[in-house]
Amino acid sequence: MLTDAPPRKLNLAEFQDSDRITTLDLPHDECLPRIASAIESAMKSEEIAKVRRACAEFLKSASQFYQVPDCSVRVLTARPLRVREQWTTELFGDYNPEAMLIRVWMRTAVRKEITSFGTFLSTLCHEFCHHLDYQKFRFSDSWHTRGFYERAAVLYHHARGTPQKHLFWAPMSSGRWRIDWPRTNRSTP
Ligand SMILES: [Zn+2]
Repeated sequence: MLTDAPPRKLNLAEFQDSDRITTLDLPHDECLPRIASAIESAMKSEEIAKVRRACAEFLKSASQFYQVPDCSVRVLTARPLRVREQWTTELFGDYNPEAMLIRVWMRTAVRKEITSFGTFLSTLCHEFCHHLDYQKFRFSDSWHTRGFYERAAVLYHHARGTPQKHLFWAPMSSGRWRIDWPRTNRSTP
C-alpha cells in the first residue's frame, strides 16, 4: 500500500489532518463482526443479491454508528470498465462522493477469480472510509494518507475479529509512504 503524494498548497492542511488521524472509534458490540460473517457466508453461496444485502446492512450499521448519512452499495460480478479509484495493486472497489455510492466487485480483473473474503471486506471498509472522510471529517477530498490506511485497517480488524496491527511506514520519494510489511508483521504477536 502506497500513500498519495501531498497536494502542493490547496488542501495541504486537510491532507495533513487526514495523515494524523490514525484511529477510529469502534462500536462496543459485535454487530459489524456478525454482519461481516453474513457477508462471508453469502460470498460462499455466490448469490450476489445476498452479498449485496449483507453489504448494505454492514454499511447501514457503520453509518449509524459514525452518525453519517447512509451510503448505497452496488455489488458487481466483475470489475467495471471505467473506474475512478486508483488502487495500488489490484482494483476491487470504488466510491463516488457525489452519489455516496460504493461499488465493490467479486471477481478480479485479470484472472476472473473470485475475490477472497478478506480482500472483499477490506475493500468495503476502505471505501466506507472514503465516505467517512467526506461525511464525518468533512474533508474536501479523500486522500490515501497513512492515517487513511490506518483508519481503514482499524475498521477492518474490528469487523473481521482479527488483532489490530501497528503499521510501520517507510518513506518514498515526493512525500509518499509505503507500508513496511516485514516490520509490521514482525511486531504483530
Ligand atoms: Zn481508496
